[in-house]
Amino acid sequence: MVITPKILQVTYVFLKAFEPFQDMPPAHDVQFKINRCDENRGYFHQGGGSKEYLIMVSARCINHMDSLVKVMSHEMLHMKQYIDDTETEDVVHNKEFTALGQALCLEMGWDPGLF
Ligand SMILES: [Zn+2]
Repeated sequence: MVITPKILQVTYVFLKAFEPFQDMPPAHDVQFKINRCDENRGYFHQGGGSKEYLIMVSARCINHMDSLVKVMSHEMLHMKQYIDDTETEDVVHNKEFTALGQALCLEMGWDPGLF
């Protein structure tokens, strides 16, 4: 599967139907980009560009829908923590992130060790 910004956008919209993402901003507030990074599968950044938020996914790492929904969920959790101001300085994945990720994996039937 070749991922495109449009595929990222519809994946975001799909995942917004589930908790804990139901209060997330609409997709038109998010810029979706593809890169070819081989170190990070996905990336969330606030601001920059023409939109308020940026979600980037690596086409080098992500080639299947299964992995795309997981990496998109992961980046959406980062975005949620940024919006809710629950990030912890110098901690990439704090306790809340881990708890939300564990709950999401349980709900979706995903291996939390891979999240
Ligand atoms: Zn992360």
